Amino acid sequence: MTQNLVTVVLNKGKEQSLKRFHPWVFSGAIKKITAEVNEGDLVRVVSNSNEFLGIGHYQIGSIAVRILTFKDEVINRDFWKSRLQEAIQLRASLGLLNNTHTNVFRLVHGEGDGMPGLIVDFYNGTAVYQAHSVGMYHQRNELSEILKELLGEQLKAVYDKSDKTLPYKADIEPVNGYLLGNSGATIVKEYDNAFHVDWVEGQKTGFFVDQRENRRLVKEFSKGRDVLNMFCYSGGFSFYAMQGDARMVHSVDASAKAIDLTRANVEINFPEDSRHQAYVADAFDFMRDIKDKYDLIILDPPAFAKHRNALHQALQAYKRLNAKAFEQIRPGGIVFTFSCSQVVSKEKFREAVFSGAAISGRKVRILHQLTQPADHPVNIYHPEGEYLKGLVLYVD
Ligand code: SAH
Repeated sequence: MTQNLVTVVLNKGKEQSLKRFHPWVFSGAIKKITAEVNEGDLVRVVSNSNEFLGIGHYQIGSIAVRILTFKDEVINRDFWKSRLQEAIQLRASLGLLNNTHTNVFRLVHGEGDGMPGLIVDFYNGTAVYQAHSVGMYHQRNELSEILKELLGEQLKAVYDKSDKTLPYKADIEPVNGYLLGNSGATIVKEYDNAFHVDWVEGQKTGFFVDQRENRRLVKEFSKGRDVLNMFCYSGGFSFYAMQGDARMVHSVDASAKAIDLTRANVEINFPEDSRHQAYVADAFDFMRDIKDKYDLIILDPPAFAKHRNALHQALQAYKRLNAKAFEQIRPGGIVFTFSCSQVVSKEKFREAVFSGAAISGRKVRILHQLTQPADHPVNIYHPEGEYLKGLVLYVD
């Protein structure tokens, strides 16, 4: 049985990347579309010589089709069920399901789980559904029902938070809300550290799950150090540092809400611990004058470049920011520096940090090269999926 789908025909030669299983069709590669098509519809993609290439969700924009399968198969409830089952199985094999120490993790990571356009994070019984494509937005009710079927009692609620991630041109006005159940904010555990998570009010899906292993590494480097956690958001790096016996920890974020959240989180993990101070400040202002104040600095800025045309400016910002840290950190200091921009490659990021080091004139050595954790898998045919890059540096 085949589905009756509109066909997207590619220009000659444009089938190559799909033959290497890269899941995106760019609008410039399209020769014609055989009938009228709406955003979010399933389409069949063929080469100029009518060879079948894949089936995916259509969207207006630079990425015109996100391929769901390279097989000529029917996309129905069974298809989605098997994709979600594989995603759950992977997390189970990582020991993340029914884990008493960590109950927050990423359940679906877009292309990395064969579901381009979809992110689902799991927070102690609540799944937060975030559609980045119209197709995945249309799928939200069916997918949350299937998640419930597969996870049973482990899943209490599914909350859709797609209002900021859907392309605005799609002319849908998504309203966030529960697709299933109604759970309210909660406290989650990550390696036994407690975090308030509020998917209704918080940024992204409510919490940055992707820094779990890197936060743990900060703990290993913290003993006796004075720590600056710049761009702290919910304060995770701060209390891992405190757990690692840091001498003093300063958390800084431009958002007052983030600082409130950080204070609340530090308080539940380390009540009345005078080692911690939090400040609402702009990073570039705060770092103007921190000479010899810190010996561990964490820089985890927001995605400076969300689009390719902002790349140059973003690299300049990474360079300046890192230069500030290198110039002023105490001798023997450690810098944890990150980029979460998908359009900034590992190499470009490293060059920017390298330029920052050169400006400072300090001797800087790479101790660790960091990335996202295993519940954010990278589809090997889609290297863009490796979006989180980090370096741990030793400054003599
Ligand atoms: N390190 C965090 C995630 C950081 S997200 C964690 O482990 O969870 C990026 C944060 O940077 C956001 O909280 C945002 O409010 C903050 N931010 C954005 N621009 C900033 C600026 N110019 N100065 C300081 N903070 C900024």
